[in-house]
Amino acid sequence: MLKDQDRIFTNLYGMHDRSLAGAKARGHWDGTAGLIKNGRDWIVDQAKASGLRGRGGAGFPTGLKWSFMPKESDGRPAYLVINADESEPGTCKDREIMRHDPHTLIEGALIASFAMGAHACYIYIRGEFIREREALQAAIDECYEDGLLGKNAAKSGWDFDLYLHHGAGAYICGEETALLESLEGKKGMPRMKPPFPAGAGLYGCPTTVNNVESIAVVPTILRRGPDWFSSFGRPNNAGTKLFGISGHVNNPCVVEEEMSIPLKELLDRHCGGVRGGWDNLKAVIPGGSSVPLLPKDIADEAIMDFDWLREQRSGLGTAAVIVMDQSTDVIKAIWRLAKFYKHESCGQCTPCREGTGWMMRVMDRLVKGDAEVEEIDMLLDVTKQVEGHTICALGDAAAWPIQGLIRHFRDEIEDRIKHKRTGRVSAVAAE
Ligand code: SF4
Repeated sequence: MLKDQDRIFTNLYGMHDRSLAGAKARGHWDGTAGLIKNGRDWIVDQAKASGLRGRGGAGFPTGLKWSFMPKESDGRPAYLVINADESEPGTCKDREIMRHDPHTLIEGALIASFAMGAHACYIYIRGEFIREREALQAAIDECYEDGLLGKNAAKSGWDFDLYLHHGAGAYICGEETALLESLEGKKGMPRMKPPFPAGAGLYGCPTTVNNVESIAVVPTILRRGPDWFSSFGRPNNAGTKLFGISGHVNNPCVVEEEMSIPLKELLDRHCGGVRGGWDNLKAVIPGGSSVPLLPKDIADEAIMDFDWLREQRSGLGTAAVIVMDQSTDVIKAIWRLAKFYKHESCGQCTPCREGTGWMMRVMDRLVKGDAEVEEIDMLLDVTKQVEGHTICALGDAAAWPIQGLIRHFRDEIEDRIKHKRTGRVSAVAAE
């Protein structure tokens, strides 16, 4: 179990003073200028050595991503853009950082921007996050007044401006290139890659887009050292991690824990266990709505990290754990996600625009048992035609939950169809 002295987020629950004075008293903004004076390469190397992998879902090594930024400017400015859109259903970790521990993020933004040669950073915050925006803006204002942002930020010799931009509430703006389009004032539609943002991102300039948590952990990693950070979790899955647990547990919560913690331990220790006991568990979505669910027999053994969950054909994603007990109509739960992705598709590419609607409509009939058994394989086939054939990952995100459902709960889908045929409606059939 993670000890209190090893927590990066010391005010996750807003129990303490979230002002600059409070943050400083808890050790933030300590020796920031000294860290920056070690130079760009040192910071990037420390991030690489720590094993930090992006906390926004994809798990790409953060230090490596930073190293893609040009070492010398060709005349264009460089930008860091922080993705605070956090719209993935089930995910609610970054908001806790922004409203209760905002200085971790602001200090991280300064250090990471310096490491990439950026004098400006934009935080793109989800439109619905009104209170979070207010808290974060208040913290940014305090930092300007204190000289931690602006010219010669924190006396580091680096001029740095931080802007908070709020979105309008479209899920797709959490996709990094759609986010950049939106930031430029255009419709939030994903761009084709390449070019990648490090070559041509915001306003056509070199840009790195990082998740809130990925940036907020950086100052503490530099202060305590990469070895400290990588001492948590299994190899290649280093660090502490915010987990957000919702659904059928006794106490849903967001908690910082060691990476690679067993799922059962996570739920028992921090959430009061599954409602009705562990044996009442039916399935778990381990990493936000876009990753395939795991049935109980796999959840029994689950280790919460990137590699273990990928081996089970699921993923850690945003570490948003959605717990479903035996009372859940799992077909209907996945139908609801299909409906969400259909609604949020930007419509730019045909497999996603048409496929998400098609998948939702078949799921609609599966919920009611109003389908042919052969349609299950037909649906699976369509998910395969959407997956990997679209501009952005929303197509995959729409396909994977359905694939997971069919992989693990095919019997339940078939039973419902058969029961409908025989006139006996399944006990859990949707109205
Ligand atoms: Fe838009 Fe969907 Fe294509 Fe992404 S996959 S660009 S959301 S249509």
